[in-house]
This record gives sequence, C-alpha cells and structure tokens, in this order.
Amino acid sequence: MHAMGDNVIPLADLRYAAPVPHVPAAAPAPTGLLSDTRGRPLRDLRISVTDRCNFRCSYCMPKEVFDKQYQFLPHSSLLSFEEITRLSAVFVRHGVQKLRLTGGEPLLRKNIERLVEQLAALRTPDGAPLDLTLTTNGSLLERKARALADAGLKRVTVSLDALDDAIFRRMNDVDFPVADVLRGIDAALRVGLAPIKVNMVVKRGTNDQEIVPMARFFRDRYADTVVLRFIEFMDVGATNGWRMDEVLPSAEVVARIGQVFPLEPLDPSAHGETAERWRYRDGGGEIGMISSVTQAFCRDCNRARLSTEGKLFLCLFASRGHDLRALLRQPRPDGQAWSDDQIAAAIGHIWSGRDDRYSELRGAMKVDTGSGERRVEMHYIGG
Ligand code: SAM
Repeated sequence: MHAMGDNVIPLADLRYAAPVPHVPAAAPAPTGLLSDTRGRPLRDLRISVTDRCNFRCSYCMPKEVFDKQYQFLPHSSLLSFEEITRLSAVFVRHGVQKLRLTGGEPLLRKNIERLVEQLAALRTPDGAPLDLTLTTNGSLLERKARALADAGLKRVTVSLDALDDAIFRRMNDVDFPVADVLRGIDAALRVGLAPIKVNMVVKRGTNDQEIVPMARFFRDRYADTVVLRFIEFMDVGATNGWRMDEVLPSAEVVARIGQVFPLEPLDPSAHGETAERWRYRDGGGEIGMISSVTQAFCRDCNRARLSTEGKLFLCLFASRGHDLRALLRQPRPDGQAWSDDQIAAAIGHIWSGRDDRYSELRGAMKVDTGSGERRVEMHYIGG
C-alpha cells in the first residue's frame, strides 16, 4: 500500500511502455473483416477522454495514490477531439461499429459534446451510424444530458455502487450524494438516452448488502428503461489492493436476487456481449452479470481501448500499448505526415497479431495477478 505523500509513481507520460507502431509498407486496404490470432474481429472501441475523475472509488482511483501530488496528464498530451475523430474513422474502416467514451470521468472533459457531435457524423462503410455511447459516474449528468443528446449521443451507462447514501458516499470517497446521480439518470431518460445501463461493482463486505435494494429499486421504477448490471470486482491496474476474497461471484448475486425475485436466463443480445442476461419471471425487466473474474469472456472479446494520450491497448489487463499518437504527431522519415491509409495499415498489423486473453489465463492460474510488469490503470485506459 502507498502511504500518503510518498508515492513513487513516475511522470504520467513515461508510465506505460508503448512502442511506435510498425507501419507495413504494403498493406491491403481495410475490409472491415480484420481478425486477430484467435479469430476475433474488431468491433468496439473504448476511448478514454481524460485520466481525471472527481470520484476516488477505492477499487479504481484510491485517494492514497491519486492525491494532490499525483500528476495527471498535461492537456497537451491528451488527444484532441480532431485526433480522436480521425483515429475513430480509421477504426470504423476496420469494422468498429461501437464507440464508447469513458475515462476517468468523461463529462469532466471540456466541451465533450463537441466530440460527440464529430463522432456522431461518422458512418460505417455501408452507411450506418455508429452505436455511440458514454460511461459516466453520473455526477454531471443532470447538467449535461440535454447537450449530449442534442449532439447525437445514443445512450449512457451510469456507474452506481449503492442506493444507501452513506455507503455510496463512502465508496466514492468524496462524499458525493446518491440523490444527484439518480437525478442524472432521470435527466438522461427525459432526453431519450435510453435504455440506460446502470453498472454496480460489487465488493464483498463493502456494498454486497446493496444488491437486493438496487435490484428492487430499478425493477420497481425503471423496469422498461434501465438495465441494472452487476460487475465483479476486478484486478485491473496495480493500485486497488485487489483480493480474491472481496470478489462476490455473479452466481451468488443471481442466487441472492433470485431468492426474492425469481429469475430466468436470457439469450445474449449481441456477439461479444460482456453481460450474461437474466429476466425477472414476473416481467419486472432485465438484469445483467459481468463476470470477468469467475467466467472469463476473452474468447469473444472484440474490444480495443484508446488511452487518453492515444495509446492503443488490446486488453483491459495489458501493461503495454501502441503509441498511435506518434503516428498523428510525428512525421514519417521523409518528413511528410502519415496518411490515414498508413495508420490503418499500422492498426491492422497490431490487431492481426493480437493474442491477449488475460482473464482466461487468470482463471487457469497461469498469470501472476499481484506483481510483475505494472498493469495499466483503468482511468487511463478507459473502463
Ligand atoms: N468515470 C466513469 C464511470 O464512473 O463510469 C467511467 C470510467 S470508470 C473506470 C468505468 C467503470 O469501471 C465504472 O463502472 C467502474 O465502476 C468500473 N471499475 C473501475 N475499477 C473497477 C474494478 N477494479 N473492478 C470492476 N469494475 C471497475
């Protein structure tokens, strides 16, 4: 554990190794059919638009580490909206159909709705709009929902770990009241950002007593508009003090809710879907389980992540990225700028070599979850 004031975290820019990608001299134009070494396509791009957050949830950005001395990235390191849009367009040519803005807290990024507007204008090769969404802690949602919807955002996912105000304030560790997040959810529903997914990270001994109250609340009032999803506490990053005995397996969540409100399983709605879906037998709506610890879903993983400073990560548990920003900002050896086709070739080359399946290996106890090369933090890579 890090003690207050004696952090040994090096400067943000030097934090994670990320080579400048190789740009193949002759690469076929993107076909949208790109696949990795395990036959997985590239469909979903998560973009972290800021490494800052106004919450200090202990499982993500614990206060003792992310304190006043912590050096967040300087603004010049962040990808600009134009850079994000340019890269997103290249990813879309490779088959990406879904973009998710995340962070840190994405609503802290100034004028985020302008980025949403630019991304909403992108089209897949066959002319379809993208599934454009955003994950937020909800604290600024009441204020921002209208502008986001007007800019073309389709949906939002709101993180909410408890309904009990004291537990919620303790978990966000900045004394933020639950009522404000609930008002944010209502505001998002009013402007049509629906259905809303509400994500609850479950930590045994911290908020597991909130499982049934959360299920009851969203079932009663939001059966048709909110899908509540339970996430197993994961060993992302290197600062959250993860312990297996604090993971409450999804199977136990299903059992606890099922005792009060009988449940039945549903078929997955989309390939590569992370959540296992369940429905209340009495028609009270649907819930989801994200079991990345007890049931790895690497086999279908079609997600890539773009960090705040433009590094491409192929797995949430990666420790190395690929510095795409270098291709945007640094010239080729002949002094010219890299073209979109060349950037597409570089991304194609990276994805074709992808072999990551961390959660499966963790399940088989083939990885060291506690030490070794430092894993990337979630607020930087995007949750
Ligand atoms: N600030 C935004 C939010 O709160 O949703 C977006 C970023 S946050 C990193 C994205 C999601 O990751 C949140 O739902 C958060 O609860 C989840 N998360 C962060 N650390 C986690 C961990 N160790 N295990 C499981 N989920 C985690």
